[in-house]
Amino acid sequence: MTARIDHAVSSGTFTLDGETFDVDNNIWVVGDDEECVVIDAPHEVSDIMAFDGGRKVKAILCTHAHDDHVRAAPALREKVVAPIMLHPDDKPLWELTHTDHLWDVDIADGFEITVGGTALRALHTPGHAPGAVCFHAPDLGCVFTGDTLFQGGPGATGRSFSDEHLIKDSIRERLFALPDETVVHTGHGDDTTIGAERQTLDG
Ligand SMILES: [Zn+2]
Repeated sequence: MTARIDHAVSSGTFTLDGETFDVDNNIWVVGDDEECVVIDAPHEVSDIMAFDGGRKVKAILCTHAHDDHVRAAPALREKVVAPIMLHPDDKPLWELTHTDHLWDVDIADGFEITVGGTALRALHTPGHAPGAVCFHAPDLGCVFTGDTLFQGGPGATGRSFSDEHLIKDSIRERLFALPDETVVHTGHGDDTTIGAERQTLDG
C-alpha cells in the first residue's frame, strides 16, 4: 500500500526585514490511514488538523523557517505530540518567529523518514534560506520543495539570509538530478514538474 498526499491552502502573513505580506501557503500531509507527516505548519493549526483525521502524526517537517512556514509548528506539536524537524542552518530565521520554543530534531542532508511505507528523503537546498530542504518521495514520484522551486522558477532571494547564486546551484545540482517526470509540490501556488522547470531555468 502506498501513502497518499492530502493538500490544503492556509492564508496568513509573511514578515521579514520589517515588511509584511499576505500569503497563501500550501499544507501537505503524507501518510496512510494509520500515520502521517505534516510538511510545513503555516498559519492556522485548525487548517492542518483538518487532515490528520485522528491519525498518528509522526513528524512536523519544516522546509525552512520563514514565519509563514513554521508559525503554527509549536502549537501543532502540542496538539498532536509530534517532533518538529528543521535543518539547523535555519536557526536565525526560526528565532525571528519563535523565541521561546525550539524545534526537536535536526534534519541533515540525506535524512530519511518513512511514513505509511513511503520514504521521504531530505535534500539540503540552501539559497532561499540557509537551511532550506526539499523532501523527495521516490515511491510517490514527487518532491516537496517549499520555497526553493516554484512553478515558473526559483524561490525569492531578495531578502535577508537568501542567496540567488546558491539557490540556482541547489536547484541544478540537487533537484535537477531527479527524473523529469517528478511532480513538484511547492510551498505556494500550483504544482509543476522537474522537467518543466529544467526548461524554464536552463532554457
Ligand atoms: Zn520562504
